[in-house]
Parts: sequence; structure tokens; C-alpha cells
Amino acid sequence: MQPPVQKNQLITAEITDLTHEGAGVAKIEGYTLFVPDSLPGEKAKIRVVHTKKDYGYGRVEELLEKSPDRVDPPCDIYGRCGGCQLQHLSYEGQLKYKQKQVKDALERIGGLSGVKVLPTLGMEYPWIYRNKAQVPVAARDGELIAGFYQKRSHQIIDMDHCLITDETVDEIIQEVKKIAKETGIPPYDETTHQGVLRHIVVRIGRETGEVMVVLVTKTDDLPHRKTFIRGLTEKYPQIKAIAHNINSKRTNVIFGETTKTIWGRDVIYDRIGSVKFAISARSFYQVNPQQTRVLYEKALEYAELTGQETVIDAYCGIGTISLFLAQKAGKVYGVEVVPEAIEDAKANAELNGLDNAFFEAGKAEDVIPAWHEKGIKADVIVVDPPRKGCDEALLKTIIAMKPKRVVYVSCNPSTLARDLRILEDGGFQTIEVQPVDMFPQTTHVETVVLMSKVKE
Ligand code: SAH
Repeated sequence: MQPPVQKNQLITAEITDLTHEGAGVAKIEGYTLFVPDSLPGEKAKIRVVHTKKDYGYGRVEELLEKSPDRVDPPCDIYGRCGGCQLQHLSYEGQLKYKQKQVKDALERIGGLSGVKVLPTLGMEYPWIYRNKAQVPVAARDGELIAGFYQKRSHQIIDMDHCLITDETVDEIIQEVKKIAKETGIPPYDETTHQGVLRHIVVRIGRETGEVMVVLVTKTDDLPHRKTFIRGLTEKYPQIKAIAHNINSKRTNVIFGETTKTIWGRDVIYDRIGSVKFAISARSFYQVNPQQTRVLYEKALEYAELTGQETVIDAYCGIGTISLFLAQKAGKVYGVEVVPEAIEDAKANAELNGLDNAFFEAGKAEDVIPAWHEKGIKADVIVVDPPRKGCDEALLKTIIAMKPKRVVYVSCNPSTLARDLRILEDGGFQTIEVQPVDMFPQTTHVETVVLMSKVKE
């Protein structure tokens, strides 16, 4: 069957939906045309730029009718920078979009119609929320630049201000850039694999104000080390740690294996609610601390802890959710595949005097079945998997363990829907679904779900 439109054709169409990547969708005689920078409810003259058998792409030539949700994106580099996708949509509109993404995925993929998907919990001020920036360095016309990758490319856009990043972090990134230019340290070149400075990483503990700076180089040596240290610490007393990481490989991964503290401490501290965390250069730590607290409070509410329960926290990272729940639970068992994160989790338990939290390194789908065999019983199981969702072996074990409640924290509505279906078929019922906006101005959707065991 031929697509009803051809390449280069100019058509007039209405936008009816928005994809999980933030592109508008027009339906032409049932054929799907993706149209970036358009919003549902808008009508536009669209140039067809590319067609495939089942779908194609178009570009807006003229906007004929504007959505009432359209706003002027405040950032100068929006559209070129790959960091944000929804700045042209009002924040109200973004929150509704995220709720709909979740609802649609649950219905379409999970066959879960009629479940309660609550309105997205958003931020009062949805800007400067990121506690961390990791900016790649490159050369352009012999000058050092640092910024973000362009959409779908490895070209770097020089960035002198990011509207979603913490202001102190943003400022310190610029200071590192300034010092780097003054010293003449050679920027790393991805194509030739030559040069020195690859990435600048800055992270702040928003509750404590403590800052860590990490300089990633291709070389074993960090030239002008003292100049960096002096320049940064004299101007920013909130910097408590400066580290040097060596990444000599040809790779997109930011960090290499070796990290050395070159000034101050190995960690900075932060708090979520009343729980304190030590964060090292390579620890995974949620990037929006304000909304992390909202998310964890919701997980805690869904867990309905009275102080007696045994809780399992699968995919626990540095133990953030585990320790948050340990304050109100009898016992918490956390499992995580990265051994360093488990070391951090144990240290964090100690730091908070929580002696009812136990951590084991390994895959959730191996460790939890082993706990089950050993006779460990859980009242509540929390899972917070990466984008690919839970391993099926883990879901089978959860079904076999019959906890009273499952609390599912997800960063991907599609795999969430798939996994909820499996748990529903295994005797659980989806009670409530709460999207939480962890990443305003972007298409990322975070969701927390309460499931209950159905009585047999
Ligand atoms: N709950 C934590 C971390 C969530 S991110 C927090 O809120 O901070 C997901 C985590 O799952 C990552 O730390 C990742 O290393 C870990 N992970 C990935 N695959 C895993 C597996 N098969 N078993 C256990 N942990 C895994």
C-alpha cells in the first residue's frame, strides 16, 4: 500500500496527539505523520519531508491555528539543544500530557482500562531544578566550548546558561570553562580521540549547599591542576570536593574507572526529608531533589507502614528509597546490581543510624528469589527499575512471595504497563497510579503505582 502523502508535498492538517518524544501527530487517512514543534489542537501547513511504509515525518511551514497551550520557549538554544523537548508547551499542558502518556500506555500496552491515573504532581517553579550538570567539552575553530549535545547528534552546542539547572551549578560550570580557556588545556576531540579535557561535572546537595566538581580527562594527568583548584575554591567556598576522573577510552560513557580526589573530601552530603546521604563522584542520585521527596513521600504513603513490616526495595541504588522507608518499617532489604552503590547504601544506613536496613549486591532477579528460598517474607515490595523495566523472573518471584502491596516506581510508562499486566495476571490489582514530574520541560515521565494482593 502506498502512503497517502509523498515527499515534498505540502498539506494542511490538524495535530491530534503528542508522542512520548514530544512530536505532534497528524493522521492523514489513517497514515501517521510525525510533526516536530507542533501541538495537539493546532492546524498547520506541513511539508512532508520523509515517508516510510507505515509513517512519515513533516515540518511545519505555517501555523494556521495555535494551541492555547503554546508558549514562547524562554531558552535561547531551545530547539537546537537536545536537553529540553517541551518548553513550547505551557507547564499546565506538560502535566496533562504526562498524565495522558501514562494512561494511554496502561490502556494500550497493559490492557488496563479504567484504572485511576491521578493528575501529575508538578513543581511550583519548574525551572533551575537539576542538581547536576555533566557537560561535554570540545573545540570549535580552535576555541574550547562546552555545552550540550544537539538533538540526535554528537555536535556540541556551546552553552553559557541552562534554565533547568541549579544556578550555582550553572555558574561553576562557566567558571571551570573560563579557567580551562585561560590555561589553554586542550579540549578533547571525539573524532580524532586527541586532547585532554572531556567532561565537566558539577553536582550540588540542594539541602546542604555543598558542591562537588569532577574534571574528566582522557590523559592520566590533569594539567594546570593547581590553577583549577585555586581558581574554584577561592571563589566558591561551597565547593567541598574536587575530583579528577580518567577516561582514556573511545566511548560515549562519561566516566572512566579511575577517580582521584584532588582537593577536599571524597563525598558531598545531601538530605531528602530527614535522611542524610553521602554522594561520591560516580553515585547515582536523583537529579531533582525537590520532586524526589514528593515521589518518596508517595511511595511511603502507598507502602502503608506501621513499623512492623518487612520491605524489599529492588533496584535500590545508594539506598535512597530503602532508607526513607526504613524510618517507618520493621526491616528493609535492598538489592542493587552496582557493588559501589551497595557500599554507599551501607554507609548511608550507618550515617543515619538505621540498623534495620540490609543491602546485597547482585541482580534483583537472582537475589530476591534466593531470599524467597531462604524464607524471607515481605509485606511490601518496592521496585524502581531502569527504563527496561523488571526482569520477568523477578515478577514471577514477586507473585510467588505474595506481599500485601507492591509499590512500582517507574521512569518508563511502556515497560510499567507491560509489568503491571503480568502482576495483575498473577493476582495483584492496580489501585492507584500517580505520575510525578521529576523532569519539567522534558518528555520524561516518572510514575508511582500502588498494587494490592487480591484475596484468594
Ligand atoms: N531507587 C534508586 C535507584 C533507581 S535507578 C533511587 O531512587 O535513587 C535504577 C537502579 O537499578 C540503578 O541503580 C541500576 O544500577 C540498578 N539496576 C539495573 N539493573 C538491575 C538489576 N538487574 N538488578 C538490580 N539492580 C539493577
